[in-house]
Amino acid sequence: MTPCLICTHDAGPSRTACVRCEHRIRGWLGELPRQHVLLVASLELGTRPAQGFGGTGRAHSPLPVRGDVLTLLGPAAPGPVHDTLGDQGGPQPIHAVLHAWADQLAEDLGHLLPPINPRAPYADYLARHLGHAVRASWIAHMHTELADLIRRIRTVTSTEPRRRALDAPCPHCQAFALGHLDWDTHIDCEACGRLLTPDEYETHRAVVMPPLARIGVLMAAAQHLAQEAS
Ligand SMILES: [Zn+2]
Ligand SMILES: [Zn+2]
Repeated sequence: MTPCLICTHDAGPSRTACVRCEHRIRGWLGELPRQHVLLVASLELGTRPAQGFGGTGRAHSPLPVRGDVLTLLGPAAPGPVHDTLGDQGGPQPIHAVLHAWADQLAEDLGHLLPPINPRAPYADYLARHLGHAVRASWIAHMHTELADLIRRIRTVTSTEPRRRALDAPCPHCQAFALGHLDWDTHIDCEACGRLLTPDEYETHRAVVMPPLARIGVLMAAAQHLAQEAS
């Protein structure tokens, strides 16, 4: 068994991160462009009271925009960043974090970074090559930085994907742990990490649910009879 560098569960052959962790990272990369829109909308002050407003004796006027949001949306350094060793202190803009990891990935893959897509800076690129990242030695470090980024963004936008539990058990591990996270393309099992497309889930559900419902009815009837007899 090769332990996942992120969660220590079995990562699977020739991988450094397990399927479940890969799925979480892919979810974050898909969430970033959506959160970007909300971040831009919360840039102007007024979404919450400005700090120090009301006579703290400040000698200068506060910025007309939120500093924490500005930091997140801020531009990155123009050239290759190479901060994948984590030697830069302080909160990093979204672009800087993604650029650094995209740069690392491109170097590993031995090609040049593609031109930037301003709406989803490098998130698409990272998602496209995530299969390589989950076999790289630095995956846990990338996971930590993305987790921190997403946490900072969600704090500002007060928006995070909600999970809706589904009723059929997992076809792989039989746990009742299947669910769908907003914005996600797949249904996932929280217990074993198995992923299903919505179509696969519906097919599976159509097969397993009628017998399960029948068992449920029989159990309820047996319970009812037992209560009547006592
Ligand atoms: Zn893992
Ligand atoms: Zn499962």
